[in-house]
Amino acid sequence: MPTPILRIAIPSPLRRLFDYLPPAEMPGAAQVGQRYLLPFGRTRCVGILVELADSSELPREKLRPALRQIDQTPLLDSELMGLLGWCAEYYHHPPGEVFAAATPVLLRQDRSAEVVGILRWSQHPERVGMDVGELRRAPKQQQLWTLLQQGPLDAEQLNRLMEGWRGPMKRMQEQGLVHCEEQPCLVVAERQADRAPSLNPAQQVAVDALHGVEEGFSALLLEGVTGSGKTEVYLHAIEHILAQGRQVLVLVPEIGLTPQLHQRFTRRFDCPIALLHSGLNDSERLCAWTMARDGQAGIVIGTRSAIFTPLPRLGLIIVDEEHDASLKQQDGFRYSGRDLAVVRAQRQGLPVLLGSATPSLESLANVRAGRYRLLHLPERAGGASAPPLRLLDMRGQKVEDGLSPALRNAMRHHLHQGGQVLLFLNRRGFAPTLLCHECGWVSQCRRCDAHLTYYARAGLLRCHHCGNEQRVPAQCPDCGSLDLRPLGQGTERIEQALQEQFGGVGVLRIDRDTTRRKGAMDGMLESIHSGSHRILIGTQMLAKGHHFPDVTLVGILDADQGLFSQDFRASERMAQLIVQVAGRAGRAERPGEVLIQTHAPEHPLLRLLVEQDYRAFAEAALAERREALMPPYSHLALIRAEAVAPNMPMDFLREVAELARGLASGGVYILGPIPAPMERRAGRTRAQLLLQGENRQALHRLLRALLPPLEALKLARKCRWSLDVDPVELY
Ligand code: ADP
Ligand code: ZN
Ligand code: ZN
Repeated sequence: MPTPILRIAIPSPLRRLFDYLPPAEMPGAAQVGQRYLLPFGRTRCVGILVELADSSELPREKLRPALRQIDQTPLLDSELMGLLGWCAEYYHHPPGEVFAAATPVLLRQDRSAEVVGILRWSQHPERVGMDVGELRRAPKQQQLWTLLQQGPLDAEQLNRLMEGWRGPMKRMQEQGLVHCEEQPCLVVAERQADRAPSLNPAQQVAVDALHGVEEGFSALLLEGVTGSGKTEVYLHAIEHILAQGRQVLVLVPEIGLTPQLHQRFTRRFDCPIALLHSGLNDSERLCAWTMARDGQAGIVIGTRSAIFTPLPRLGLIIVDEEHDASLKQQDGFRYSGRDLAVVRAQRQGLPVLLGSATPSLESLANVRAGRYRLLHLPERAGGASAPPLRLLDMRGQKVEDGLSPALRNAMRHHLHQGGQVLLFLNRRGFAPTLLCHECGWVSQCRRCDAHLTYYARAGLLRCHHCGNEQRVPAQCPDCGSLDLRPLGQGTERIEQALQEQFGGVGVLRIDRDTTRRKGAMDGMLESIHSGSHRILIGTQMLAKGHHFPDVTLVGILDADQGLFSQDFRASERMAQLIVQVAGRAGRAERPGEVLIQTHAPEHPLLRLLVEQDYRAFAEAALAERREALMPPYSHLALIRAEAVAPNMPMDFLREVAELARGLASGGVYILGPIPAPMERRAGRTRAQLLLQGENRQALHRLLRALLPPLEALKLARKCRWSLDVDPVELY
């Protein structure tokens, strides 16, 4: 029998596998999912064995042998390998990058996967309290000693804090000043015997439905307003799966949502829980990943990439806030964590539970088509009713600092009654731009087709798209006038205005600018819960996760952004934001009120949302999508291109469009190319080409046929281009 050929995925932008001969020595038989150390060009790299083949397109003598087999047993199990292979095909993405996305950074290197703990250094218990002065002749040791005063540190933290720490650390270890310990990264919490509340009837129906699902795949959509007890349903479902000795994977859109879930889970379950999100350093991530893979972690909570965690006993996948755009990876390998959760469940024959107060139109359409089963929690668990929504007509109103008189009055009323007020505006900074009142100059980014946001307190103009930053000019750069005025409202400006008018009750601004510092958010949440601050103004950070029981009035300052956008998903997002923000407020004994400022009070979708509910809105929005043949009633793929040379992206995409028109079958439309909605960004010109298919297969057939000739185009090597299958953002 001839030696088999190893077909290997290598982190490279090429859309293919690479063939190698086995290394001279093979400690274990060749198995799909193992890593190999390989010669690659003049360097070496680590790749994953994807297929074993009898023959290669290249003659055998041209193939190079792998240098070493890194894993004797596969690093990635066959289920996961299958899913990743599916991904490379479906997203038409280079397999090497797909497989790399599923591998912790530290395992993309030539090292063993047997890591189970993290080394941490700390002051030796007997030497704690030693005066740093004693180390005065060894300044490096002195510095380390001071660092360790705060508690144990691992290698990665030390790398960040200090250069060349290993030598002095070793000497201190020899002197018995510090000691080093391998600690498990999963801390098993003491179970606090948190009792589960008895379920209300709607929750019971949902839990029964989950317990009753037959063996095999089923997809369930759990729709319930904030506070309706979705998490409680998750907890029951998880308990049931854990009792069978199986594992549960829980995806959340944002790292910010993991601590709360984690806390609630540890109070209920005594099994080890692994967290996987971008806030971990590489060794913590590796450790959590290994414990999931080894089956030690019963529950894995993670952001989108956690969908690629190997879980040998997986029994259930839960996706919380399934409508959230953050579940989609927006660069590189652009996959949807939510969609892959369904695909993975289907491939492995498992139930998947999607939860949201405002399900995506895609998922609702799947319910209608009978593919998903709908579970509905119509009421808040504690008995509080969801606050009513009301539109405030801004037309002709005397608006000051973004607030209409009606909203101001309502604020005074609610504050007087002892309630808290939450104002929502999705714009950071003081004002979206700075305007010269004499000549009309506006602050514009040199590198983007975008205005520079004005930050009054910092005295800066900042571009939210490329990070470009400059000091506010003292006078107009064009005419020299001193009369520069902020135009429009941002959260910083509203905060300032509120402070002048309502300063006595404490005003707090929550956005990415005020919460950057570690722990800042916790401090703010604390002052809201204690009532020391009673007005909150913030961006969509406020819409997620947190609950503010004393808030009785929610004000949406500008609903119109979402109504008049070129993005076909903008109205869906605005409706979701409104409902999510509204859901942050109120409890049983303090019913709330939600006021929405708009210049378009007659807008049909907005009216449906306000007068009926999200579901009515969604039905109408789905009907519009069907009319316009937009997703979920068609399927999209977007090719983006950018280059420094202004004409190149359009020229390139024109060639691509021509290729595509020659290859497309009926029911596939080639739309464009057009300049991107923000044509210039960070000094590059951008364009896009949209491919739309009435049916998914036809679209994917086109993509498969299109990519090889596309990659052969001369301009394909000069432009930066990407393919986005099922894009969430159209720019
Ligand atoms: P959601 O995830 O939909 O926002 P939660 O599960 O967090 O809802 O429930 C909201 C609040 O109601 C929580 O404080 C939770 O402990 C409580 N709760 C949930 N279900 C019940 C129940 N059946 N009985 C009493 N309280 C409940
Ligand atoms: Zn001017
Ligand atoms: Zn810019």
